[in-house]
Amino acid sequence: MKPNSTQTKLKRTCTHLFLNLLSFLIFIFIISLEAMAHPRCVAWGEMGLDYHYDHSPRDIQRSVFTRQLRQAVRLGKPLTIHTREADDDTERILKEEVPQDCRVRNLASSTPAHPHLLNPLPSFFSQIHIHCFTDTPGFAKRVLDHFPNLCIGITGAFPAFLPSQPHISYPTHLIPLGVITYSSNTNTSAVIQQMVASNPSAPLRILLETDAPYMVPGNLYDSINGLKGKLPICHSAMLPWTAEFVAKAAGEPWTADRVMSEARANAKMIYGV
Ligand SMILES: [Zn+2]
Repeated sequence: MKPNSTQTKLKRTCTHLFLNLLSFLIFIFIISLEAMAHPRCVAWGEMGLDYHYDHSPRDIQRSVFTRQLRQAVRLGKPLTIHTREADDDTERILKEEVPQDCRVRNLASSTPAHPHLLNPLPSFFSQIHIHCFTDTPGFAKRVLDHFPNLCIGITGAFPAFLPSQPHISYPTHLIPLGVITYSSNTNTSAVIQQMVASNPSAPLRILLETDAPYMVPGNLYDSINGLKGKLPICHSAMLPWTAEFVAKAAGEPWTADRVMSEARANAKMIYGV
């Protein structure tokens, strides 16, 4: 009798613990979704696919990405997308899951996605930020053409600078491996030049970002003497150097100031902040 009763008690305790844990996880899930519906949650992400590091099996990455997109679209949130060496799957899943124009969805719920935007018109289109862009210009063109409110995120550590500046020394734990080891490391400049070539008078569809702490702009070391190896952490005060790089890649008549103001307007359009 005794061993049986101990076993039964143990079973009951385990079942009890399991049910408690399950209800706790369901509670957290519901609370998290509620929290993300709050207007002060300005976007969902970063989320997406990383076939460079492949930290998770690709089928699981795709399934999680799809579910996250569905929740974000349901709530009418802007999307911050991570994609690395996964052009085809990222493009396919975005086009399958994200409507180009979310006007119908928003009118159906009679709640505009971003009523606080100064100009409400852009909020009718899905707002997408492809963050820290490193993939192919062809992929950039296809998603820019498909989504009217999509912008390409430009970070500071331009791989094109690094090989010509061997004097830049990053602390080993902060080396941006994911960027400088890309074989297609001139993609960022090519994407900017492609935008300019397609419509020289249109504003650039880019956002300037730090992707802190890793991406210190390489050209910063050229313009300020004595900083070699002393700026391992990137922050938003370094964005003017990123803008300068973009202006050079775009060519005349772009200037760093113009790039900064166009990127600022894009940030307001995408995130409403
Ligand atoms: Zn990322």
